[in-house]
Amino acid sequence: MNVWVAKVIILLASIVMVAIRAPYGRRRRGIGAVRSNKGTLEAVLLTFAWVGFFLPLIWTATPVLAFADSALHPLPLLAGTVCLALGLWLFHLSHADLGANWSITLEVLERHKLVTRGVYRRVRHPMYAALLLYSVGQALVLPNYVAGLSSSVAMALLVGLRIRPEESMMLEEFGKDYQEYMAVTKRLVPGVW
Ligand code: SAH
Repeated sequence: MNVWVAKVIILLASIVMVAIRAPYGRRRRGIGAVRSNKGTLEAVLLTFAWVGFFLPLIWTATPVLAFADSALHPLPLLAGTVCLALGLWLFHLSHADLGANWSITLEVLERHKLVTRGVYRRVRHPMYAALLLYSVGQALVLPNYVAGLSSSVAMALLVGLRIRPEESMMLEEFGKDYQEYMAVTKRLVPGVW
């Protein structure tokens, strides 16, 4: 199969992801934080996430990662495209539901409201579920071991190491409300975990 198919899919998916996120990033700039859990671990995890986002783009545009190229097969390409589309759809829904409460790092913002509706009614971390789905999609679509797996590794680390501190922060801020919310929701997969 022509590798350009994979390149076009990755480019389009990256553009859609940036387009979904951009308005929330702009809106976030005007809001102050009342509590922040930014630290070295956060900085390292976010750096990995950026690397995981840019390596696939570097692969589409330059030959520097060609040493790790593999063969492109239609089935993983199709399955990966479905994961990318579902991941982006969930990414959009979770941003829309979180609205002005979104932040790229672990923060409680001025006038922060606990969101428990929309996709947040089903799971506590739909945006992380979306990012994991998206990264699995990239790994399947991208016929390159380094670029394909970079985002999965970065996202697994981000989600794996961030959920607990994030939930502790939410518990400190919202107390009983978050406790009750935890009692009726799972973390990433409805009814499972
Ligand atoms: N973990 C969530 C949100 C990721 S964005 C998800 O995967 O969908 C990270 C920010 O969202 C954190 O700084 C936290 O303040 C905020 N946040 C997380 N859960 C929230 C909720 N249920 N309501 C409001 N804000 C939330």
